[in-house]
Amino acid sequence: MKYFIGNWKMFGVPRSIKILNKINSFRAKDKNRNKYRVIITPPYTLLEYFAKQFKNKRITIGSQNCYQKDKFSSNTAAISPYMIRSVGAKYTLVGHSDNRAEGDTDLMLKNKVKFALKNNLKVVFCIGENKKQKKNNQTFGVLKKQLVKVLEKKLNKNNIIVAYEPIWSIGTGKIPKQKDLLKTTIYIKKVLKNIFKKKSPPVLYGGSVDGDNIDTFRQIKEINGFLIGGASKSSKKFIDIIKNYYR
Ligand code: PEP
Repeated sequence: MKYFIGNWKMFGVPRSIKILNKINSFRAKDKNRNKYRVIITPPYTLLEYFAKQFKNKRITIGSQNCYQKDKFSSNTAAISPYMIRSVGAKYTLVGHSDNRAEGDTDLMLKNKVKFALKNNLKVVFCIGENKKQKKNNQTFGVLKKQLVKVLEKKLNKNNIIVAYEPIWSIGTGKIPKQKDLLKTTIYIKKVLKNIFKKKSPPVLYGGSVDGDNIDTFRQIKEINGFLIGGASKSSKKFIDIIKNYYR
């Protein structure tokens, strides 16, 4: 099973639902539709509306983040995993580099993962090195640390997906060399197998994925799907990625 996850970031108002309607119609007719899942993570403001509209349809709705507590608390503006699940969203991103940059620590991420899973959300846990770390050949060390500090054997790995998103690639149009990405994906899976003492959860790639460069990625069978930012805000660009992946 492959995953095409669209991360809308700070984009979208109710009428943006037309983008999802087009993606949904495409998938309904696509002969490859059973080979992949489509998940869209709009901002919190649209979660309930979109989740209701696409219930039992061909797009699953997820959140871009969640607060590190279970249910209700006195944290102004915070949204808990319980609240996210209660409006029909089924996934949440955790540890996106935007949120790490704004102060998410490993301990906070550990709690986010714990409470998201407890509330029956599937977690897309994001990891990735920055430009300097890549330049200094620290990529593997950084990724390993991000994984082992947060994930542990007792967690339900069936509800975890890992997204490798090199920070230097997000929104820049720059992508890793194919051979580097293959090595990194294999490495991440090795670390995950060690953590979970058997099978690795799916590992996605994210960072400037579009309909043209998807060809580079589709050849790497170890990659189980994609986390797509910019290109997920256009139905055409998002659909082109899927079409070209299965060409
Ligand atoms: C992202 O922010 O998760 C992302 C992958 O963005 P983009 O596709 O725009 O690089």
